[in-house]
Amino acid sequence: MIEIKDLSVTYDRDGKTPYEALDHVRLTVPKGTVCAVLGPSGCGKSTLIKAVAGLLPAATGTVTMDGAPINPRQSTIGFMPQNYGLLPWRTALENVLLGPAIRKQDVAAAKQRATELFAALGIAGLEARYPKGLSGGQQQRVALARAFLLQPDVLLMDEPFSALDAITREEMQDVFLGLWQRERVTTLLVTHYVEEAVYLGQEIVLMRTGGRIAACLENPLAGQAGARGTAPFFEMARDLREKIREMKA
Ligand code: ADP
Repeated sequence: MIEIKDLSVTYDRDGKTPYEALDHVRLTVPKGTVCAVLGPSGCGKSTLIKAVAGLLPAATGTVTMDGAPINPRQSTIGFMPQNYGLLPWRTALENVLLGPAIRKQDVAAAKQRATELFAALGIAGLEARYPKGLSGGQQQRVALARAFLLQPDVLLMDEPFSALDAITREEMQDVFLGLWQRERVTTLLVTHYVEEAVYLGQEIVLMRTGGRIAACLENPLAGQAGARGTAPFFEMARDLREKIREMKA
């Protein structure tokens, strides 16, 4: 379980006007669930992900995993940035095997698991390609393989599907869901797409400008492959849009 308590981040804009990008955020992500944080651009979603990953040393408050402060040396944190974060000078397979190589893990075992993941993600045969020779969706699949290969204690995803066209985005949400259902990785996913939050997040957290949490909702529709296009799905998405509109008013 991830527990975020009173997490605040202030950016020092131009060295003059401090800007509070996260304001005492409190959030719990139970083990083996996906928490979707939904909010407009600029509300502090990336800041939240970075702070949880420990990339913002100036953040105040606490982030704990199973009761202990989250520590990248002790726990494996999977991070999927918006631009996939693949190294252009490494092949798809080399990118995926980077984590185990750095951690000096058994590379042969990692290779076998990578082969399984490439097959599960529909990218078998692309192992030797460099990122520039892959489409956006394929790069995304490689980034997912890299994240899941590590079997992370927590997976942090920063608008992972935003750069894709609408059809590919839905396809990738399905690919993610298939993999997630196999591995049940505790995931914090930030997005500005209402439907993405409804499709993937068992809990949906609404964030408002100024880095504040406005509401947390249980979402019984999450993770149901056939849910898109059903009446309850539309209703949930409509209610969320309504809440977002109210928040802005
Ligand atoms: P989101 O991911 O929801 O679009 P961000 O977390 O990227 O939002 O940004 C939240 C706010 O903090 C925005 O107003 C943004 O301009 C500001 N911000 C983000 N990073 C920095 C930074 N390094 N320095 C100053 N301001 C920043």
